[in-house]
Amino acid sequence: MKTDVIIGIDIGTTSTKTLAYDTKGAIWAEVEQEYPLYSPDPSWKEQDPEEIYAAVKSTLAEVAQQVESKQGHIAGVGFSAAMHSILALDDEGNVLTNALTWADQRSFSEAEELKEGEGHAIYLRTGTPIHPMSPLTKLMWFRRNRPELFAKATKWISLKEYVCYRLFHRFIVDYSIASATGLFNLKELSWDDETLNLVGIKENQLSQPVSTTHVVKGLDSELAAYLNLDPETPFVIGASDGVLANIGVGAVEHGSVACSIGTSGAIRTIVNEPTVDPKGRIFCYALTEDQWVIGGPINNGGISFRWARDQLFPDIKESIKPNGFTAYDELTRRASFVRPGSNGLLFLPYLTGERAPFWDADTKGVFFGLTLDHGRDHMVRSVLEGVMFQMYSVAIALIEAGVEPVEYRAGGGFARSELWRQIMADIFETEIVVPESHQGSCLGAAWLSMKALGMIDDLSSVKEVIRTKVKHGPIEENVQTYRELKPVFLRLARQLPDEFKAISEVQRKISTQH
Ligand code: ADP
Repeated sequence: MKTDVIIGIDIGTTSTKTLAYDTKGAIWAEVEQEYPLYSPDPSWKEQDPEEIYAAVKSTLAEVAQQVESKQGHIAGVGFSAAMHSILALDDEGNVLTNALTWADQRSFSEAEELKEGEGHAIYLRTGTPIHPMSPLTKLMWFRRNRPELFAKATKWISLKEYVCYRLFHRFIVDYSIASATGLFNLKELSWDDETLNLVGIKENQLSQPVSTTHVVKGLDSELAAYLNLDPETPFVIGASDGVLANIGVGAVEHGSVACSIGTSGAIRTIVNEPTVDPKGRIFCYALTEDQWVIGGPINNGGISFRWARDQLFPDIKESIKPNGFTAYDELTRRASFVRPGSNGLLFLPYLTGERAPFWDADTKGVFFGLTLDHGRDHMVRSVLEGVMFQMYSVAIALIEAGVEPVEYRAGGGFARSELWRQIMADIFETEIVVPESHQGSCLGAAWLSMKALGMIDDLSSVKEVIRTKVKHGPIEENVQTYRELKPVFLRLARQLPDEFKAISEVQRKISTQH
């Protein structure tokens, strides 16, 4: 008998990754296709929906063909996609705009205005922090800056909805992607009338919200033949990449917290009811009908380390050695000779503004406590520590929202460094587990689809197929040092907003003069 295999498709910002898994977690095929991110203005970050659809089609066709050649049976296909994208269609389904991605900042002013008014009330209903990333503020931007297009648009949809529309001619959106638009009422699992009125759009301009385990079938026979699939193959609509990544690293049980630092960073955990924060620090997005993911993203994760590498150590930037020892490894080696706490040097890593926990685009990076005794090795260690203090400040917001962490599962580029992982264990004062992870959002999409199709009983079975790579426990002496520094870091971050605003204005003025 042929083995049942599920194909997970992750529609990301730089590429679409398509992988096939069986119920033991073995990978049967893997294909990735990159596409460009267009930036006609520095703050605009767009994608061409047709390029995304083409990448989904070609990677799916190739993976399906590989599975077939290995005698596997494709039991279903499931989707993951980046959150917060939005594009417009006219009444004939023609694309009127490129897709504005999560990284698009053009609606900065609309977000700032909303924060002064009904923003917090909207956040409490929708779970999406008020920020230019969200479709809510992007729609406000279109209404104000492109009134003709705004009037002509009959549909506003995300990239995943566009792909679904092209495959099945239907406008549906899963609760997860919907819950990251800033337009979706978390408790009622429906579009939020008040917010739609504010933005000036009608419910019929949005897709029909469905559960993340919703199944669609019935591909056109020609398309099915191109995709190497049976036309009746079930497609599970799936969820967003963030919430599925939690499944993909095995952080599925109560109190299991996923902590990832790649270019940016995020902390997330699954809870059983919609949970928002009176202080507005965390997001809440849907995973299934009765599971939610709360957490917070930080802007400046690995990008801070990259900055330190390029700006403080340009001399070793290119010293990538043949055994895979990179400039990052050389820097963490140097940092490991500096004592924990970097001799009292703190780094606030807000090089590109910050999202969680304060959602303030004006924040800037700060070295605090510099003396003549500090050198660049201290600075690089304080960068690694500063990123982790920031992650810790998001963890505090989660704990205050009622999460009782029982384990932290770490992933992303930072987890390659033993030193950085140890810094996490010491600052968080907990054991951290580093699972072997590979394309977590794809695995999450495949696992959710297996659940939807009755191939597994429980999402937590994913833990059985993810092996633990390494574990770290806190070192008491280091913990004591960080305990003295943590309150200083947290106070500084809270006390500086007025000065961040002032220096941002100066920087803006200077940049317009040149
Ligand atoms: P992305 O978020 O783009 O997928 P990754 O998860 O690969 O990126 O993370 C990239 C970041 O990981 C880099 O910016 C760097 O800060 C960090 N990183 C990469 N390699 C190492 C390493 N060997 N040691 C420490 N940090 C590393």
